[in-house]
Amino acid sequence: MIRRKRGTLFVISAPSGTGKTTIIKRLLSTFDDIYFSVSYTTRPKRNGEIEGVDYVFVDEKTFKDMVEADEFLEYAVVYGNYYGTPKRPVLERIERGIDVVLDIDTAGAMSVKEKVEDTVLVFIFPPSIDTLVERLRLRGTESEEVMRKRISQAMVEIERSNIYDYWVLNDSIDRAFEELKSIVIAERCRRKRFELWGI
Ligand code: 5GP
Repeated sequence: MIRRKRGTLFVISAPSGTGKTTIIKRLLSTFDDIYFSVSYTTRPKRNGEIEGVDYVFVDEKTFKDMVEADEFLEYAVVYGNYYGTPKRPVLERIERGIDVVLDIDTAGAMSVKEKVEDTVLVFIFPPSIDTLVERLRLRGTESEEVMRKRISQAMVEIERSNIYDYWVLNDSIDRAFEELKSIVIAERCRRKRFELWGI
């Protein structure tokens, strides 16, 4: 009767310390048919992070070779480290009708929006700047200097939130998650994503 033309690409961005990772993990455990794209990075692994699950951790030479070989859908330098979305796993899934989630920064979001048709951009805001600074301090995995960089980068990210389709305020994890879930469900039902079939 009807079928989906292709999968939908959801790009989720937020300043670091917004609780984005928690919300995305919840989304992925709720929808077992969404593929999360694991990025490549040259950033050192943090405690508790798992190779191939949180990121694929590579050295700068490997990353640059991959850039040369056109293996990234997009890549950016964030806080002095390279981060990139591998092209093939994402585009293949979209073609096969599978929805994909990218957790990337605003620069990456801008470039993906131009490359992949009908991408959905969601920006998650912290409840306030004070909470954001507080959360970054509590996280405590980085040096003072890295933290200052993250705070000023957060301001840049917030300024770029204008290009996003949806804004979600994370003043409650439960509500932010419900909102994100609703966005996914509604976007999946958009007529433009379907075609008539067999009639
Ligand atoms: P973190 O080092 O805290 O895991 O991530 C730092 C920032 O890099 C976050 O805003 C995250 O969304 C972004 N990021 C992670 N992977 C990618 C990627 O593949 N491309 C881009 N452009 N940004 C990424």
